[in-house]
Amino acid sequence: MKKFNMAVDGTSGVGKSSVCDIIADKLNMTHLDTGAMYRCVALYLKEGNTNLEDLSAVESALDNVHIRFDGDKVILNDQDVSKTIRTNEVGMMASKTSALAPVRTKLVSLQKEIAAAKGYIVDGRDICSVVLPDAEVKIFMSATAEARAQRRYKEYVSKGMEVDYKQILDDINQRDYQDSHRAISPLKKAEDAIEVDTSELNIEQVVNKILDIIKEKVD
Ligand code: C5P
Repeated sequence: MKKFNMAVDGTSGVGKSSVCDIIADKLNMTHLDTGAMYRCVALYLKEGNTNLEDLSAVESALDNVHIRFDGDKVILNDQDVSKTIRTNEVGMMASKTSALAPVRTKLVSLQKEIAAAKGYIVDGRDICSVVLPDAEVKIFMSATAEARAQRRYKEYVSKGMEVDYKQILDDINQRDYQDSHRAISPLKKAEDAIEVDTSELNIEQVVNKILDIIKEKVD
């Protein structure tokens, strides 16, 4: 199989990251989780109490944001933030700060640079349309808000966390709304992306479906 890039977009909690991790492992490719990058920026802006209304303040704060991936670890300015960025709170913040123009400009150009070498599976919200419009394989993963909330609820419960299903569902709906109604690069299925509805599928079935699509698109 020749070297190629795969772009994967989809809503919050649809399982993009887990599916991309498995496929990257199977095909010996690298998974670039762009949501983690937006989460790092959100964390940095929050910790620095940056005024989000002041775009030049946001822009200068961004100069001090250095993100790298070390295996499964996400490193923000030499600190391992892999766990901190996964909270619901940081996810909600990222959904807000990702709508800011300077944030998108910086992260999109970084992502393009990283994936230029090919061999990447990049997941996010604007990958098929903005970051890698020329990717050989383009996927849009979807699932009903209820199916996604159920999965997240089970995941939190299995980790022993105390959670409220209704709150999770409300947060998912709010993030869907914010991500699909922002002015720059709103979440939307690219015309030439193939939709994979995962509502009724388990993770293995989703992986197999996408592997079949890859086989068809890449020789
Ligand atoms: O995918 P994840 O939940 O980690 O993403 C966190 C937030 O980052 C999303 O709600 C979205 O607002 C933003 N994001 C984005 N563009 C991407 C990836 C994530 O705007 N390519």
